[in-house]
Amino acid sequence: MLKKILIANRGEIALRVLRACKELGIGTVAVHSTADTDLMHVRLSDECVCIGPPNPSDSYLNIPAIISAMEVSEADSVHPGYGFLSENADFAEQVENSGFVFIGPSAETIRLMGDKVSAIQTMREAGIPTVPGSNGPLDDNQQRSLELAREIGYPVLIKAAAGGGGRGMRVVNHENNLLQSIYVTRTEAKSFFGSDSVYLEKYLENPRHVEIQVIGDGMGNALYLGDRDCSLQRRHQKVIEEAPAPGIPEAVRQEVAEACINACRRLRYRGAGTLEFLYQDEQFYFIEMNTRVQVEHPVTEMVTGFDIVKEQLRIAGGEPLSASQDDIKFSGHSVECRINAEDPASFLPSPGKVNLFHCPGGPGVRVDSHLYSGYSVPPHYDSLIAKVVTHAQDREQALTRMRIALEELLIDGIKSNAPLMRDLVTDPEIRKGGYNIHYLESKLGR
Ligand code: ADP
Repeated sequence: MLKKILIANRGEIALRVLRACKELGIGTVAVHSTADTDLMHVRLSDECVCIGPPNPSDSYLNIPAIISAMEVSEADSVHPGYGFLSENADFAEQVENSGFVFIGPSAETIRLMGDKVSAIQTMREAGIPTVPGSNGPLDDNQQRSLELAREIGYPVLIKAAAGGGGRGMRVVNHENNLLQSIYVTRTEAKSFFGSDSVYLEKYLENPRHVEIQVIGDGMGNALYLGDRDCSLQRRHQKVIEEAPAPGIPEAVRQEVAEACINACRRLRYRGAGTLEFLYQDEQFYFIEMNTRVQVEHPVTEMVTGFDIVKEQLRIAGGEPLSASQDDIKFSGHSVECRINAEDPASFLPSPGKVNLFHCPGGPGVRVDSHLYSGYSVPPHYDSLIAKVVTHAQDREQALTRMRIALEELLIDGIKSNAPLMRDLVTDPEIRKGGYNIHYLESKLGR
């Protein structure tokens, strides 16, 4: 078992990890930038170490500073949360080479999944359905690229193998623009991501975003923890998520679940992971795998009663999985709203002092948030300040509980997107479910 974990993150996820450590009786070290001394988890941790100035590249992304903090505090392991260094294979490698435990997959797996081309190839070989496409990076043979796109049929999408955060993608509607688009995407990919490797896939016009949560012990055993629908997005950022994804035929769900679990066994996948798919016309198409805990993991925890973060810690400590697949029972429906410190109309960030924070409660309500009255949201980081999660017997009731929880939520002093969330949970299309990834942007009129 791990004895002392350094939490290399901030905000709500750092607090989430801290709570899991406390439940398991594991010591905690919080690291923070000079802008984050007042963070809730810094106050609640056993020890804390300041690792640098506010700019993330000087603190939360500063690998030597984090490894030094591990040495100084005598932590035995590091939990990277999500974002920051969580999918940085070099970080995982340096942590392990320094004699510490990285709570997550091996550096090799992170690297394999970090390159979208190798991730897609690996998953195809494991029997997972992928989007029709080039099945590898495009080479310099222009004729072959033109033939390939013609075979697949327009529109097609050119994607950077190393892309992320919704960047490094270009839709091509007509053959006349193909070669120019490949060239531009390649050039951009080189400057943004340091690699000019690009590939081509069919552009699906009205898909939903459905993802599958897994967790593996690194020895060939893995659990399937169900799916989530994250189609409500703005600029490729998820806004509301739910579990399970509504309206998926049971046979289709079963088939993809089995393929995912087989892939994890084959890969000897270690830790929590999410396989992301586009779903259209009752077909799943794999797009990428995230090798870390995700923002929206609570909805899965609510419908399974299975604690994903505690299981991450146990696995990293060398323990076997704490449950068998038969132990995992799915019950009811869960919805999560991401509350951001931003203007609900313009989406501009709204950092500053929170004069009053009142957290909703009641049956089936969970709020993961580091806010407290008097806390100042710094301007340097992601604007996520709270995740309001509800659970009930069915989707309808989970949404009703969400509506009531959002009415109770009070954040005074800064702007938040709570008014937009209140509007969304009563929107007829959203209450119906099954909307595609373009729904929110079209509703917002852009
Ligand atoms: P990133 O790593 O940048 O998030 P993804 O591969 O996960 O990139 O894609 C991000 C989003 O782009 C998806 O959620 C979806 O909205 C859209 N997208 C990606 N691939 C396709 C595709 N083949 N067809 C249509 N939309 C796509």
